[in-house]
Amino acid sequence: MSGLIDTYGRVHRDLRVSVTDRCNLRCSYCMPPDFADWLPGDHLLTLDELMLVIEVATEEGITNIRLTGGEPLLRPDVVEIVRRVRALPLSPRVSLTTNALRLTDLAQPLADAGLERVNVSLDTLDRDRFKKLTFRDRFTDVLAGIEAAQRAGLRPLKVNAVLMRDVNDDEAIPLLRHAVEHGWYLRFIEQMPLDAQGAWERSEMISAAEILEILSSEFDLVPVPTRGSAPAEEFTVDGGPMTVGIIASVSKPFCAACDRLRLTADGQIRNCLFARDETDVRATLRDSSLSEPERRARIARLFASSVFAKLPGHGINDPSFIQPDRPMSAIGG
Ligand code: SAM
Ligand code: SF4
Repeated sequence: MSGLIDTYGRVHRDLRVSVTDRCNLRCSYCMPPDFADWLPGDHLLTLDELMLVIEVATEEGITNIRLTGGEPLLRPDVVEIVRRVRALPLSPRVSLTTNALRLTDLAQPLADAGLERVNVSLDTLDRDRFKKLTFRDRFTDVLAGIEAAQRAGLRPLKVNAVLMRDVNDDEAIPLLRHAVEHGWYLRFIEQMPLDAQGAWERSEMISAAEILEILSSEFDLVPVPTRGSAPAEEFTVDGGPMTVGIIASVSKPFCAACDRLRLTADGQIRNCLFARDETDVRATLRDSSLSEPERRARIARLFASSVFAKLPGHGINDPSFIQPDRPMSAIGG
């Protein structure tokens, strides 16, 4: 095992795997309600192709796999993916980011297959507002999904929320109060320029500093010292044990400690959410002239070259920043 170390000394241990770009919600900061620019079905990696890439990644030093999308629970073989990832010789840890709509049915099978924990996305506690934000009337399904995850022992249960000005920024305090009461570890994420419609405005973004100020007016927040490569700054709430996280991707980037790589659903390795370049692994997976050992060796080299090309930071705050061509749903959040 060589280790995926970039030219800035960052060791990569975390692979975010997008298993589909499809979704059953239309969160406004992610895609427009009439979004139709889906990846062609035959470009999506098959179960066996996914498994080969993940296995090679673990041989190169990846220890954590996070399944994401699009909505990962829309992939019919998602339980099988978890089971097979856990059964790999180096048995990486497996977690999942989901909108929770299908968790009522899938939480227990996923836990039985070896899933460790889930991050659920939820931006409001108001059913009508949820419908406006996501263009689907599925709020009660999310709550039921979260409960199913908790019953299945998928802990700690983290909930991600994106606050938007004059849309749901009045819910920072109610969301945290509800999270603390229900044993959810809430994390606020700054809205990033990754929406399919390219409508992100810096001036509209609720910054981490603003979130902290709002929360501090109601709760006693004390920073938790150890952060490591985790993107969230954590605070204990009213003496703990519950904590709240704030992910300042835009206003206080944590690129210097980044240990993440991404695999898109159509088989492209990305070394950053905001990368302009991708490394094509699908062509290697489908090159019938390669023997199995040649294919594995080539995939390992593709990971190494992607890591080698990784820039020191995402550059959102540079004047020359250009939003990636792909939206978050296609990259894998
Ligand atoms: N569908 C799943 C979900 O929503 O949890 C997984 C994929 S989603 C792209 C992953 C995460 O990205 C979610 O927590 C979502 O809130 C977040 N996200 C999507 N677009 C974003 C944006 N423009 N800025 C910040 N976070 C975003
Ligand atoms: Fe779907 Fe997740 Fe994007 Fe919302 S954030 S539209 S649930 S992929």
